[in-house]
Amino acid sequence: MKGIRFAPSPTGRFHVGNLRTAWIASQIGHLLAEPLTIRVEDIDSARSRIEFKDLQIADLKRIGVDADELIIQSNRHSRHLELFNRARNDGLIYPCDCSRKDVLEALAGLRSAPHGREADYSGRCRTRKPSDMHPVETLAWRWRSKLNADGRYDAIVARTNPDGSQFTPGYHWACAIDDADGNYRLLVRAWDLETAEFTQRQIREWVRPNIQTDIFHTSLVVNLDGSRLEKRTKGVTLDELTAAGITEQTLVSLFERSFPFDVRQLNELMKNKGEIEQTISLDTLLER
Ligand SMILES: [Zn+2]
Repeated sequence: MKGIRFAPSPTGRFHVGNLRTAWIASQIGHLLAEPLTIRVEDIDSARSRIEFKDLQIADLKRIGVDADELIIQSNRHSRHLELFNRARNDGLIYPCDCSRKDVLEALAGLRSAPHGREADYSGRCRTRKPSDMHPVETLAWRWRSKLNADGRYDAIVARTNPDGSQFTPGYHWACAIDDADGNYRLLVRAWDLETAEFTQRQIREWVRPNIQTDIFHTSLVVNLDGSRLEKRTKGVTLDELTAAGITEQTLVSLFERSFPFDVRQLNELMKNKGEIEQTISLDTLLER
């Protein structure tokens, strides 16, 4: 168990929330004397661009964040496929030919669970035979959640064509496998990704039984109305902030003020699995 990992997707320039999460990951790494791994999650080939990876890494350098190890997720394709084949042979995943519309319609008829977590899926294909699948261009593969027998939380982990010759790992699959193989001491991500843990923990524990990864969630930086920062949100990239007079140094001091850290405080926060406040507004963070 070693190291801290931060795992951005190269789908655009970082906004101030991404920068802050990376900076916190780096600070925790220094505090715990653990190396920082940055894993570039570029498996969504429709949205990922290699030039964004370079720009993101360059932005991090400007605020003093340097990776000790850089992993490009798409390079791990054969490992993702190897475990997909094993999971399929072992019946841990199953094919699903439901369209998005089928799923939404079925979900509309489902009552939500008493504890409030919304269902992701109707469970329709959980007990169907693969030979009963409709001829579709792309089959989704769902993780057979051990925690709910009705399949309502069986998330999509991969897609293949019907004969299985083309395999594309899904976000949960690649992320959980890479985290299990990395055997990190701590994963750092923002609070909006907390829901991923439901599926990803099961996959990690399958890949590496007895794994004991901790997770630290940072506050999600939001607009004043509570909405999340988007790629199209103006004024939140490092270039835009510096153009507006907020230098890299100023930004780092703002991060320091919004995230006080020493070992004792970190231990307290770890009990909460991250920062107490799940969101922080942009104006609060930038003190304006
Ligand atoms: Zn289905």
